[in-house]
Amino acid sequence: QVRVRFAPSPTGPLHIGGVRTALFNYLFAKKNNGVFYLRIEDTDQTRFVPGAEAYIMEALEWLGISPEETVGKNEKFGPYRQSDRKDLYQTYADQLINSGWAYYAFDTPEALDTLRKEQEAEGKTFIYNHTIREKLDTSLVISADEVAKRIANGEHYVIRFKTPVDETLHLKDIIRGDVKFETSLLDDKVLFKSDGMPTYHLANIVDDHSMETSHVIRGEEWLPSMPLHVLLYRAFGWDAPEFAHLPLILKPVGNGKLSKRDGDKLGFPVFPLEWKTEEGISSGYREKGFFPEAVINFLALLGWNDGTDKELFSLEELVESFDLNRVHKSGAKFDPEKNKWFNHQYLIKQNNEDLAKSFTPILVEKGVDVSKYDVTRIVSLIKERAHFVSEFWDLTDFFFQAPTSYDEKASKNWNSATPALMQELISTLEYIDGFDSANIEAIVKDWLTKNEIGMGKVMQPFRLSLVGALKGPHLFDIVEIIGKEETIARIQKAIA
Ligand code: GLU
Repeated sequence: QVRVRFAPSPTGPLHIGGVRTALFNYLFAKKNNGVFYLRIEDTDQTRFVPGAEAYIMEALEWLGISPEETVGKNEKFGPYRQSDRKDLYQTYADQLINSGWAYYAFDTPEALDTLRKEQEAEGKTFIYNHTIREKLDTSLVISADEVAKRIANGEHYVIRFKTPVDETLHLKDIIRGDVKFETSLLDDKVLFKSDGMPTYHLANIVDDHSMETSHVIRGEEWLPSMPLHVLLYRAFGWDAPEFAHLPLILKPVGNGKLSKRDGDKLGFPVFPLEWKTEEGISSGYREKGFFPEAVINFLALLGWNDGTDKELFSLEELVESFDLNRVHKSGAKFDPEKNKWFNHQYLIKQNNEDLAKSFTPILVEKGVDVSKYDVTRIVSLIKERAHFVSEFWDLTDFFFQAPTSYDEKASKNWNSATPALMQELISTLEYIDGFDSANIEAIVKDWLTKNEIGMGKVMQPFRLSLVGALKGPHLFDIVEIIGKEETIARIQKAIA
């Protein structure tokens, strides 16, 4: 059975790249009738941030890609929070010590630092591996009795992985194909610390195995860890899951990985939900007015497509079409403008009643008596021009209040003859009985034709009087909605 996981560390709000990782895991699971579960990797207590775990869960829920199993939900292989599994890892670390796949190292951070500086001074990169592990204070050189004594004395130690010497590993990644690693270039990574906590590497492998993970789908930044992970599976005598490393998400402009600073600079969120700290608020897609479906859609296309030009996918369609083999190797450029386009596509698909409901609180805040208006109709007239509900007010304010100024540039067709024409227009409007858009339009146009008056001479000043600028939807729809009395009042004010 396919079982995949999203395994974030709760070190802050979930970055949009993390959300994409969660999404691809979700899609792969659903496509294969498998299980998508969420594991909280919080073994590094120094980086733990309160609230981050709840944030992650809330973000996935908002996006509609909640895990089937996680902390507090179907804990089949629980606990799903690594700090709650703490007691489990020691046994596994011991197992590797006993089988000779790991060793104790007692060197202090200061000693390591000196060594690093020495090597760097000689122009070498410092690698903690077979070239030095037997020259240092490790259980590879001191006696077992001595090791036991020093541990009993409460001396600080770490357990390191004993990387095999000079082996070429030929590994398979679903996205990248065959990847080669030289073990001589790998560090003997720390697996366990004397404070009783495993490091990410040990906990991750133990848990992926015990939670029966079939595929590890994660960001490219973890590709360098793949050889160690595969070696750990070998050391435990377990079958390794399959691996797929997703391409990086790149900056909209320039090179490199998308960062929060790019978002701040160009004015777009890099987090799904708003995140508040003492330093300030980081904006979120939800609070910016993005639809979760739009966020899912644009994330899915960061590094994947279905082989056609199709861009709009519902979550169900994504599940249907998703294929890990179609995920790209190269980085995916993040395009904030395109993201807005996606939101627009989802906005125009919403029904007008729902959009009106979302718009109503904004109107109320502006002091509009919404009971007097058909907000649904108004929304239907302008939604084609909006990316977000938050833009509705600027697109509709003239429905609810008379303009307080008139756009200078638009006054081109406003000349000495205009006031008299507008007076005639008022007289024409006054006698219209069925005051609906089509009827008003027919009568006004009839008056223009009969008197051989050019359209532009009347229509532009008319619009300017009602709206204050040459913008807005079909003029006669505006006239109908604001009503006869208000229309006339606005024209009178404009020519006064
Ligand atoms: N805890 C790791 C992270 O924060 C998980 C990496 C993995 O998926 O193996 O991304």
